[in-house]
Amino acid sequence: MELPFAESWKIKMVEPIRKSTREEREKWIKDANYNVFQLPADQVYIDCLTDSGTGAMSDRQWAALMMGDESYAGSRSFFELRDVVRRLTGFEYVIPTHQGRAAENVLFSHLVKAGDIVPGNSHFDTTKGHIESRKAVAYDCTVDEAKDTQLELPFKGNVDIAKLEKVLAENTDKISFIIVTITNNTAGGQPVSMANLKDIRKVADRYGKRVIFDSARFAENAYFIKTREEGYADKTIKEISREMFSYADGMTMSAKKDGLVNMGGFIATRHEDWYEGAKNYCIPFEGYLTYGGMNGRDMAALAIGLEENTEFDNLDTRIRQVQYLAARLDEYGIPYQRPAGGHAIFVDARLVLPNVPKEEFPAQTLTVELYKEGGVRGCEIGYILADRDPVTRENRFNGLDLLRICIPRRVYTNNHMDVIAAALKNVYDRRMSITRGYKIEWEAELMRHFTVKLSPLA
Ligand SMILES: *Cc1c(COP(=O)(O)O)cnc(C)c1O
Repeated sequence: MELPFAESWKIKMVEPIRKSTREEREKWIKDANYNVFQLPADQVYIDCLTDSGTGAMSDRQWAALMMGDESYAGSRSFFELRDVVRRLTGFEYVIPTHQGRAAENVLFSHLVKAGDIVPGNSHFDTTKGHIESRKAVAYDCTVDEAKDTQLELPFKGNVDIAKLEKVLAENTDKISFIIVTITNNTAGGQPVSMANLKDIRKVADRYGKRVIFDSARFAENAYFIKTREEGYADKTIKEISREMFSYADGMTMSAKKDGLVNMGGFIATRHEDWYEGAKNYCIPFEGYLTYGGMNGRDMAALAIGLEENTEFDNLDTRIRQVQYLAARLDEYGIPYQRPAGGHAIFVDARLVLPNVPKEEFPAQTLTVELYKEGGVRGCEIGYILADRDPVTRENRFNGLDLLRICIPRRVYTNNHMDVIAAALKNVYDRRMSITRGYKIEWEAELMRHFTVKLSPLA
């Protein structure tokens, strides 16, 4: 008999979590104005809000914390981090920052000017924010297939090369770089193929442009290249990472994802001019160049996290857990963005709750139902998150309306996945009787999903 698959780690420390009753949860979610961001975490049983900074560090990472060098300048921990990043990416220059959006802020302060266009594949919301707040345009060139959640394709995060060529040809003067998000978070944690990264490089070279990778989940992207793309099965994750980055000029990184730490980020590049430009913004915004907003001990833990998470077994354990949850949903016939992404399952709320009108926010309705059913906290990635059109102030209903169930790294077991799937199935079984959603009582002008106050319409 073939031995079954099991995790590539064992557990050394546990953190108790508390179940609750449906009655308690109904009161709590009402007190939170039906917004899961407003729930105290103690009121959540299984927390799948995000995989950002919510992972478990290894014994080696905890040991590294004790060895961190807290020197203001020239910290040994910085050099450890720099050397790992150099080895994994080939980028010479490394600037730490306190998280991913800070890396964007520092680098884009140097690179983005009013009137610029920055093409990419479904820019992450903070990336878009840092582009738009500088009065530039984030131009989406994601392949159209990403919009059809039921289409099963291996690299749904890809850039559409024809769209990219067109925007480059028509706006050559307004574009200084292209940003490629690996994996494509917004499209459902979908990977970008090596072939696509090569093609992007070729097009960029033809127009004399540079390429940045928004690399929060680069290791998961490398895993998908290894397991799905012809010619990579025998390469290591580290070799694949190095090849991916060979097609880029620089990167921004949220280390809270594939860095396996709770807080941190960095910029890395092969170009001295970018490094010199970014330095001028790192020092006033983040801190001196050998810490950039991070503790020495956190840089030490990150150096080890990057090493560990570019080992196949660690990624295999993680991504198979996401796929395990997907297989449970398949059993129950629950529709999600196919195939399962690297870090999360994105349930297609329009297909699950066809009787809830879009004006009443189906994905938000499903998010609340899942919490009430099982104490599971997911997150709406849909019409509320999309905010209003800046000009017309109308709600934007043109994108997908999804419930994201995001899996923290090395935190939950497959038994927890079974609970999530069963809770979702119970909601799914009574989907036809769910006919009303929510009305907005109060909202902020931008990024309203964090603080929005809702009231039920039924
Ligand atoms: C999380 C994330 C960011 C922003 O990073 P923070 O560490 O949350 O500031 C940027 N891009 C992508 C793709 C991300 O997933």
